[in-house]
Amino acid sequence: MCGIVGYIGKKQAAPILLEGLKRLEYRGYDSAGIAVRGEKDVTVVKAQGRLSNLVERTEGGALLKGTAGIGHTRWATHGVPSECNAHPHTAGSGAITVVHNGILENFRELKEKLLRSGYAFRTETDTEVIVALIDYYYWKYKGGPIDAIARFMQRARGAYAIAVLFRDFPDDIFVARKDSPMIIGEGEGEMFAASDVPAILNHTRKVYYIGNLEMAHLTRQGVTFYNADRAVIERAPTLVDLDPSAAEKGGWEHFMIKEIHEQPRTVADTLSRYVSGGKIDFSEAGVTECAALPSHIVIVGCGSAYHVGVTLQYVIEGLARIPVRVELASEFRYRSMLFEKDTLVVAITQSGETADTLAAVREAKAHGIRTLAIVNVQGSSVAREADGAIFTVAGSEIAVATTKAYSAQLIVGYLLALELARLNGNIGEEKYRAALSELATLPKKIESILAHKEDLQKFAAEHMNMHDVFMIGRGIDYSLCMEGALKLKEVSYVHTEAYAAGELKHGTISLIEQGTVVLGVLSQSFVAEKTASNLEEVKSRGADVIRLCMEGCEKIGDPSDTVWSVPPTMEWFAASLLVVPLQLLAYYMSVQLGHDVDKPRNLAKSVTVE
Ligand code: GLU
Repeated sequence: MCGIVGYIGKKQAAPILLEGLKRLEYRGYDSAGIAVRGEKDVTVVKAQGRLSNLVERTEGGALLKGTAGIGHTRWATHGVPSECNAHPHTAGSGAITVVHNGILENFRELKEKLLRSGYAFRTETDTEVIVALIDYYYWKYKGGPIDAIARFMQRARGAYAIAVLFRDFPDDIFVARKDSPMIIGEGEGEMFAASDVPAILNHTRKVYYIGNLEMAHLTRQGVTFYNADRAVIERAPTLVDLDPSAAEKGGWEHFMIKEIHEQPRTVADTLSRYVSGGKIDFSEAGVTECAALPSHIVIVGCGSAYHVGVTLQYVIEGLARIPVRVELASEFRYRSMLFEKDTLVVAITQSGETADTLAAVREAKAHGIRTLAIVNVQGSSVAREADGAIFTVAGSEIAVATTKAYSAQLIVGYLLALELARLNGNIGEEKYRAALSELATLPKKIESILAHKEDLQKFAAEHMNMHDVFMIGRGIDYSLCMEGALKLKEVSYVHTEAYAAGELKHGTISLIEQGTVVLGVLSQSFVAEKTASNLEEVKSRGADVIRLCMEGCEKIGDPSDTVWSVPPTMEWFAASLLVVPLQLLAYYMSVQLGHDVDKPRNLAKSVTVE
């Protein structure tokens, strides 16, 4: 959600800011703006809608002269998406210019106080209150930028990452963060700030991670970090090994289809990182002690990561015989949870910055519960704050709708299940090895599904008018339906519901009418016939039925159904293959309907607010 970029160096800032914002586009936004420090003052240019509008308005940045500046893509939370509400915002005196990612929760109360002190507000945003408050402290205490920002931090509730220009400090950028992401990059005589690493990868790989409730002061010579008490603190840089070309489409029409095709590699890379010599080795992730035989597991996540959790609930309980609960992170964080002794909380998140998942990790830790992250982004907040972190090896995922990160999360989850099963003696050597060999076959099997993608393309073309879809299944098949339904909804906007197949008769079957599409997933042999019977029930009420299953399932149902089958695998791992046709269906429907596949309306990639 939202992108922030800051630059100070010898080059012209505006083109660098625009390029950085372009690389953060995947995060989702509705307007954009930049502020560049010129010889005498700061110039702000904003535009509603796509970044290309801002590029046009600034002639690719050429109209703004100066070598220091900040930029922003806004995902509106307070106030409509408009040019006026777009960032950067400047306080009345014009002394301070701010871009902000997050939500200032106590903005009303602070705004009233500031109004009483004579501040006027031009926008509906909470961000303008941040600018005014920093301005107020700056002039009242005259303690300089770090002092003013620290005072703001003491008063602010909610989440923020901010980058600030002070008119009196032409050669400096100040940043601060709490619960929203921000990184600092260091080049030769130049410094960068950004919401995420891909924004600066073309310039440098030397990255500093600012801790929570910390500030940083950037100059052309370097960076100084401060804690909230204004004391200087040390932060060491790390060299990131992300490939900048990962953020390019490389000939594909959309990131989503590119990333769908990257899944064989993602699965293979994730496996080879943690499996060698026929054994799972999580020692690199430092999780051996962390995961050591919990009595109970609670998995938390949001969206697709939550669906991975639902799948893993079946896999871990089945293989390791450890009780598992799955909770939506946004619910978990506000529940007064009753934890069993020796519970392990497993937090799943691609970005590692998902606000609710991060809060869930903190909540668990506050109860003295061990936490383990399954996360894609190294150095992210969840990766740093959880007691242990197993990284998915998915590289940068740009399309808002996750595909390859979801697949990598499943793989890590299977390995965790197998390792827990081995630790508690619930799986024999032979079965353990057989499972690992089976996992090694998944990349090839995914490739063979992708080789038939035209079938899904054709189906999408023929069913452009479908408007209600139900996906039904039991157990792992049900968890897969949840993911398939979310994919179709988020990128093609086709109304889709996932239902536990046995629940259909308890109400929803009343919605089935001539032409309703019902997709049944039949990979779990012990319940497949039951779901096949449910398909018969909807078919006799007029539904168009699709069966999604592993090769051989043709025998289970009516030969007249549409059947999408994938190569067979162990039933525990079925979701890894069955998800691919559902991803392709969502993608091709979206393309057919002319939607913005990679940036669906209203959605953001990294949900850094509640
Ligand atoms: N809450 C701020 C606004 O609505 C910032 C939103 C964002 O993170 O982009 O302007």
